[in-house]
Order: sequence, then C-alpha cells, then structure tokens
Amino acid sequence: MSAVPVFLYHSVADDPPSWIAPFTVSPRAFAEQLDRIADSGLTVVPLHRLVAALHGGPRLPPRAAVLTFDDGFEDFFWTVAPQLADRGLPAALFVTTGAVHPPGGAPEGSLLPPAPMLSWRQIADLDVLGGVEIGGHSRTHAQLDTLSWSALDAEIGYCKRQLEEVLGHEVESFAYPHGYSSAVVRRRLREYGWTSGCAVREAFSSGADDLLRIARLTVRADTAPEVFHRWTLGQGARVAPYPESVRTRAWRGYRRLRAGLGRPVGGPAGA
Ligand SMILES: [Zn+2]
Repeated sequence: MSAVPVFLYHSVADDPPSWIAPFTVSPRAFAEQLDRIADSGLTVVPLHRLVAALHGGPRLPPRAAVLTFDDGFEDFFWTVAPQLADRGLPAALFVTTGAVHPPGGAPEGSLLPPAPMLSWRQIADLDVLGGVEIGGHSRTHAQLDTLSWSALDAEIGYCKRQLEEVLGHEVESFAYPHGYSSAVVRRRLREYGWTSGCAVREAFSSGADDLLRIARLTVRADTAPEVFHRWTLGQGARVAPYPESVRTRAWRGYRRLRAGLGRPVGGPAGA
C-alpha cells in the first residue's frame, strides 16, 4: 500500500504570535520543503483527488502527496498562495469561520488566540483564483468530540452554511480542530453533507485510508529537514488505516471528563 503524505501546515511566517509559533514554518523553510517535495518525485494532487480515490474513484499517481493548511491565517494569502501558484501546486485551506474578518467588522469569535487571520474577501479571492480548495475547520475551533449533539450543529452545520454562502458553491472537505473526532462527530459530519474529514494522527494516508479520518503529518517549526525528507520518501511514520490506540481513547475520555466539568484541557494550540 503506497504511503500518501498529507502535510498539515498552519502559519507560514517569520514573526508569528507566540501561541502558534511552534506550529509555524518560516517562508524560507516552506520554500525548501516545497523544493524537497519536487526533488523527491512526489506528485502533489488536490485533496479532492485523494477523497475521490477513497470513494473508489480514479486511482492516485504512484507517489502522491497533498498539502493542507489549517485555521485560516492571513499569511496563506500573502506568503503561501503565491509560492504555490509559482510552482503550480494545489492545496486545501481549512477555515475557522468564527475567526474570519468580515468587511469593516469584527470576527464572530473563536477559541483561537489573536492572530492575523484571513478576511472573507481574501477567502473568496483564493477560491476564484483556483488551485486552492476551501474547506471547513469548524466555527470556533472547539474540541468537537467533547461537544453535545446539538452543539455540533453550530460547529459543523453553521460553518458549512457560512462558507457556502460566501463562496456560492458547495464546500465538501472538513478538518477537525486539533484533529479530534469521534464516531458521533463523524456521523454528524456526514449528515451535514461533508464528504471527507481530515484528522491529524501523525501518519501517512493511503488509498485505503478512512475517508472521515484522513491521516496527516504535522509540519512544525522544529520539524528537522531530515525528518521532512524521510516523509517525502514515504518513511518515518505509520501508514493509515490502523486501529486507534488505547492511549488516544484514554486521552479522549479525559478531555471529555474535563469538558463536562467546565474545565477543558487544551490540545496543541493550533493543530
Ligand atoms: Zn486548527
């Protein structure tokens, strides 16, 4: 089974706010990583090609990769998109809608600490320019697997309606904040019409991966060039699908308990 690296980025900047700094890659490192991908012979495909393959559609090229960006930082517009356009690379951008800047107003609000975030205008422009698939990343960046059935409506349903209203077409791909989902969350995702869900898992995806729990590899500020190099070769991580570990299940139980007590524990800030 061929390993498909689905790279997960957040911010690409030289001077990020401290809370997202561990998940921020400098523009120079980002350019080097794109060079590394090209040198390795990987073919970067749009996320929807991987999703189609997982739906039983056309097979992926032998060595495929996908680029994804979570949260909706403004540097995607000024730094990332130009680099991708120069190289002709597609990417998926997952937007936390409550953090988006509306024209002349303040964002609706999210759990993300302050940072320069994309505006609705920039998101619409990226959508029209092509090459960037806009997806949802919830409304407030909540840990979805700790929420009630009804609370999921605002995070999964409203987020979709907001994006589709602005873009004027259907939006199909979702990425779970912090990568956290559950069987209930994934069921709600399908009910609201999302056709895929990106998790984190720190593993390679594959043509046999779970459509609603696509594995990704987080690229961090301290991801060593050798580690990234190994990922481009399909080495250094497991290949999904594989069973959820006891540790992951125990960690979810603890987070739910704390959320139920009104004292949620934070996951990785921007993941
Ligand atoms: Zn996120």
